[in-house]
Amino acid sequence: MDSIENINFSKRDFLKYTTSLLSATVLPFSYQSALAKEHWDVIVIGGGTAGLPAAIFAAQRGLKVLIIEKASILGGTLFLSTGQIAGAGTVFQERKGIKDTPDQHYEDIMRINNGTSDPILTRTLADHAGPTINWLEENGYSIFENHPVKKIAHDPFRIARYQQGPMGGMSILNVLKPIVDNEINKGSITVLLETSANDLIQSNSGDITGVIVENNKGDILEYKGQNIILASGGCASNPLLYEELHGVPLYCQMAYPESQGAGLILGQSVGGYLRGGEKYSPLYGMVLSDNKAPSTPFAVAKNVIERKPWEILVNSKGKRFVQEDHKSIDHIEHLIGEQPSHRHWAILDQNMLNQMPDMFYDWGGFTNESIIEESEKQNMFKKADNIRDLAIKTGLHPINLEETIESYNNNLVNKKEDAFGREYRPLPIQNGPYYSIRMSGWTLCSFAGLSINGNFEVIKPSGEPIKNLYAIGEVIGFGATSGNAYVNGMGVTPALTYGRLLGQSISSS
Ligand SMILES: Cc1cc2nc3c(=O)[nH]c(=O)nc-3n(C[C@H](O)[C@H](O)[C@H](O)COP(=O)(O)OP(=O)(O)OC[C@H]3O[C@@H](n4cnc5c(N)ncnc54)[C@H](O)[C@@H]3O)c2cc1C
Repeated sequence: MDSIENINFSKRDFLKYTTSLLSATVLPFSYQSALAKEHWDVIVIGGGTAGLPAAIFAAQRGLKVLIIEKASILGGTLFLSTGQIAGAGTVFQERKGIKDTPDQHYEDIMRINNGTSDPILTRTLADHAGPTINWLEENGYSIFENHPVKKIAHDPFRIARYQQGPMGGMSILNVLKPIVDNEINKGSITVLLETSANDLIQSNSGDITGVIVENNKGDILEYKGQNIILASGGCASNPLLYEELHGVPLYCQMAYPESQGAGLILGQSVGGYLRGGEKYSPLYGMVLSDNKAPSTPFAVAKNVIERKPWEILVNSKGKRFVQEDHKSIDHIEHLIGEQPSHRHWAILDQNMLNQMPDMFYDWGGFTNESIIEESEKQNMFKKADNIRDLAIKTGLHPINLEETIESYNNNLVNKKEDAFGREYRPLPIQNGPYYSIRMSGWTLCSFAGLSINGNFEVIKPSGEPIKNLYAIGEVIGFGATSGNAYVNGMGVTPALTYGRLLGQSISSS
């Protein structure tokens, strides 16, 4: 999912795009009030990655669909997402002669996440992701010329099935939007923007019969429907809820602002329950802007999938904790998750800095030179003439750090095996000035989410479905689909795929 270096979408494009969507769909209150008297076949809460395909496919079957969207625009996380998706048997694979099957996709997902995603939902995803991508392609979706690929930023698949549009998530939204517009024009989809679903209406027998919303004027309205779909995203913009559900602070805020966890609360309020917070795993290499939690991203280091490391990594005790060149970034990320506050410091010297390929993604022209410039400001980047001073400036144990570097250098210079089994050791750390870079574990997604069954119905702890209530997208937890690892495409692909399947199957009676 997450490397964001490939997005070429300018702010100007974003504004142009958002303006066109806005003018199309804001409705006056009197009309909203009239709509509240109608009975809807399907009410979709959240017009984002999962909600839009669900609405489209239901509407195309003749169902009367209402989308309730809190933001002033449809699209949700697709505005931010890198839009990396994966599926087997796609036309993009066929064009390059790549042979692939849903079975191989399923096995790859379960190998990478050690069998920690929900097996039924993963199977459904593997079986239907390819056709979902083909449906996007039929409607104009295209991908980078060199895609499909086996990997970007996460552990590789065995087969190239990872495909990404040149505009990231926007490449997907640009396909969905005209189809939604068409259904709006036909009257089969109605959209309420700037309208927040605040409550579910539950009958005495426990069935869900509607939604209570609040619009941007503070008016409270009830909408009744046969099927209610929670597609309101995760909680990765709600630090308090995030920490409560995952036991880990939200170190960096990167998610869509409306990912406040509304759907998780709504589902629980009518008898659903949450699972998956324990699957939390941090991503590698985020330099935060400051010490706040959550902070914002300043720079992101390329991980072992994108670049062989020259530097060593230490924890707050000044000790190494991982084989820095381990071929699995998942392995490294899990060990980062065991370090205090998930912090990890890169330690390197001037020689390395002069010779190594750029360590960071090129956000706003960030290069190895920028490391030197930033270290003059003494923020997350520090510089000193000797290791002891570097440790003191950085807040690491000085003697431990000296010993760590001495041991690393000795093994390297004397051609002895590295203490952690590291093989790629281009240079010892011995030519000052020396540098430290404080990096943090971070994420984009909430792993915790509502429990659902294989039909996307929200279930109670007994396993019994809550009648008429469905959940798709990140509201069911990234952990349900990706497990305790970052498997390529396992946020956007399930959101789109489950949306398509639910829209195709949901009943009107
Ligand atoms: C920066 C970034 C990059 C990512 N890159 C990738 C990637 O490359 N590949 C991948 O697989 N995954 C990626 N992910 C994760 C993936 O994008 C998300 O998991 C997925 O898009 C979530 O889809 P969704 O439909 O659940 O939520 P969204 O797309 O966020 O849709 C939810 C919608 O619900 C609305 N809403 C919220 N609350 C309410 C309410 N109370 N009432 C009404 N509406 C409400 C929101 O405004 C929003 O429009 C990325 C995430 C981020 C943040």
